[in-house]
Amino acid sequence: MRIWIAGVSCVVALMSELAIANEEPAGSETERLQGIVRNLLDDNAAFARTHKSDYYKPFAEKQRPRATVVTCSDSRVHTHAFDKTPDGDLFMVRNIGNQIATAEGSVEYGVLHLHTPLLIIIGHVACGAIKAAQGDYSKLEASIRRELETLKLPKRNPKNDEEEEWLRGVDANVHYQVDVALKKFANEVKEGRLTVIGAVYDFLNAKHQGQGRLVVININGNTDSSSILSGLMKLTGAGIKLDKKPAGKPADNKKAAAH
Ligand SMILES: [Zn+2]
Repeated sequence: MRIWIAGVSCVVALMSELAIANEEPAGSETERLQGIVRNLLDDNAAFARTHKSDYYKPFAEKQRPRATVVTCSDSRVHTHAFDKTPDGDLFMVRNIGNQIATAEGSVEYGVLHLHTPLLIIIGHVACGAIKAAQGDYSKLEASIRRELETLKLPKRNPKNDEEEEWLRGVDANVHYQVDVALKKFANEVKEGRLTVIGAVYDFLNAKHQGQGRLVVININGNTDSSSILSGLMKLTGAGIKLDKKPAGKPADNKKAAAH
């Protein structure tokens, strides 16, 4: 195996040299691709140089992730936003629209076989899958259509601002996915072996909780802001620093209107 990998490394190094020797005119598609591949290999080489065998020791026997994460494939969403050291911590399931339906086996594996005590579903602002599913996607490829059909979103209200409706769709999808998880893993949740969190990664500060925040909007089906706050206090042993109020649905509309 090592020999094979070493062989691949040599071929890759040789290809890299050949690519440099045959550089295309600046800005060409080929040059762009060469840059992408070179960056990937350079970054991996740097990673391999700086991570010695001790680093991989915990990985040798088996994986013991702390959480199963269902999130979108979107390139703007990555684990370093919510875990400084995600290696070995997070069992990642990614697809367009952060769905359970299109990755059921993977999600079940994380919860039922790896026994993660937490399942977190992370949607994100400006999700292209949500926007597509809210509109006419009949002209898209059949395989993409199939993955959009499993999104259950409320009808877009044409009277409302388009951006607001988009964000409402993102939230609604997270709530829906949490509901699906709660039905699927009802026993685990009932017996206290699993907590399901729904959150939105907000890189636009659309929810006014701070840019880059992971905004929790659902804990085990509870969506009002006071339940989320008490749920987070309980889940963190009150160890979390909340400098903004959670952005769940207000428990009392009158109170919310007064703010
Ligand atoms: Zn997305």
